[in-house]
Amino acid sequence: MTTTATASPPTLGKVYLVGAGPGDPGLITLRGKYLLEHAEVVVYDYLANPKLLSYVPKTAEFIYAGKKGGGLHAFTQKDINRLLVKHAQRGKTVVRLKGGDPFIFGRGAEEIQELVAEGIDFEVVPGVTSATAAATYAGIPITHREYTASVAFVTGHEDPAKKMSNISWEKLATGAGTIVIYMGIKTLPSITRKLIDHGRSPDTPVAVVRWASTPQQRSVVGTLETICEVVQQADIKPPALVIIGEVVKLRSTIDWFEKRPLFGKRIVVTRTRDQASDLVAKLEEHGAECLEYATIQIEPVEDYRIFDAAMATIAEYQWILFTSINAVSYFFQRLFHLGLDSRHLAGPKIAVVGRATAEKLLQYGLKADLIPEQFTGEGLAKALVQTRVEGSRILLPRAMQAAELLPETLTDAGATVTVAPVYRNVPPPGLGDELRRHLLSGTIDMVTFTSSSTVANFLAMLKADSKDEAHALFSKVQIATIGPVTTATVLEHGLSVAVQPEKYTIADMVQSIVALYRTSAPSANR
Ligand code: SAH
Repeated sequence: MTTTATASPPTLGKVYLVGAGPGDPGLITLRGKYLLEHAEVVVYDYLANPKLLSYVPKTAEFIYAGKKGGGLHAFTQKDINRLLVKHAQRGKTVVRLKGGDPFIFGRGAEEIQELVAEGIDFEVVPGVTSATAAATYAGIPITHREYTASVAFVTGHEDPAKKMSNISWEKLATGAGTIVIYMGIKTLPSITRKLIDHGRSPDTPVAVVRWASTPQQRSVVGTLETICEVVQQADIKPPALVIIGEVVKLRSTIDWFEKRPLFGKRIVVTRTRDQASDLVAKLEEHGAECLEYATIQIEPVEDYRIFDAAMATIAEYQWILFTSINAVSYFFQRLFHLGLDSRHLAGPKIAVVGRATAEKLLQYGLKADLIPEQFTGEGLAKALVQTRVEGSRILLPRAMQAAELLPETLTDAGATVTVAPVYRNVPPPGLGDELRRHLLSGTIDMVTFTSSSTVANFLAMLKADSKDEAHALFSKVQIATIGPVTTATVLEHGLSVAVQPEKYTIADMVQSIVALYRTSAPSANR
């Protein structure tokens, strides 16, 4: 006999059609970001920037539904519609992420119609459409009081099944001041011909913008008469937008995105996962495209006995030294684990290696008593020795393996130094082969190093065992370091350094890189 449970019908989920914006992940709406952060299923395609997926919880289901490239098989629109219905019927919160705005040439309405037919709840979040983004990022205002009072968005790729065009080219040709054409690269010759035939001047300026708002953005300019040839010569392929009208002339004054000093530069950032973001953000601010490679992964140590003992006898210490941001983070992680907080550190003075470490410390409510003028271990040792450390007890929480110069100098000066490991560096899983290809093909302009250990680990990751091999890998690439110690390590490996700032901070390093490129060299070939 079977028992029959009175099963209530499953609660339906909801589908959110979210505009991802044109490419730059910063151009998604706050609402869109919020929904990604709460998605259980995310369905995305090739126009949505993959960086946006980092907002989605790792536990969510990620489904690539591109109709082009990348996926295992090409999805039809029908497949996508069904997919959304299926997951909503499983009770899931589904985010359908679509490039630009979902309702501008995005077939968003078709997806919604299917949901309505199945009685599924939905919401649509608009996005920055690629037309406005492409124009803006190419330095073209799509309207301007002196040039045009109207703008038309047009598709260059109508439904192939349609017998007659829905676009009245004869009216459009002279009817709209600015014309922006989506999906118009393949049909550009017939589009420009129709516009000229219907009375638009062949001298009308035209811009074509590919991968707008991304580091790969490329723009070319011509006239209705010449643009086809310009596009062909420059080998501009989709996705690209065509902007037609007098406003294109303003590009020569307003162009800003492609003029940023590091635009078109591909720069490798070699740091630990936790620390890369500051350098990446600053380089991107100047237009660089950053490829992040973790060369070290930071983990807690297994044995905290020395640290714990030091905390138990904290009153006996005169100084605590912090030589990295990581040391601060892991110090407090353990301190909190012991049930203590910053008040426990009221006795000893605190010294840090540099400004960034001081700022990190401030986040825990503590102000550094001493910051050396030179932000290195050596600088810190010198500054401390000047305070006469003879007879004092100094606690140095740090990485398991680290340079011994600081504790040795202090010991020589008569202090008793307790080295307490609070974290350790481990090699991350390899990405070496991909990186080798990039370096050898010359598609990378620069590699940045912010510590000696990243140099050694990076070369180990690349399996560059000899100076010759390292030299060959870096023959088309420049190197930037944060300071003289790192530079020395680079030189030891048979490589040369193009940039090293006078002050050893990330901000100064970025300024020096900008200065280098302002005065030199076109970008690496792609
Ligand atoms: N819903 C999207 C458009 C989808 S149609 C939107 O609102 O932007 C796809 C076309 O959009 C591409 O063929 C191209 O013409 C244009 N497009 C989308 N993203 C682009 C980008 N970053 N740069 C240039 N064109 C883009």
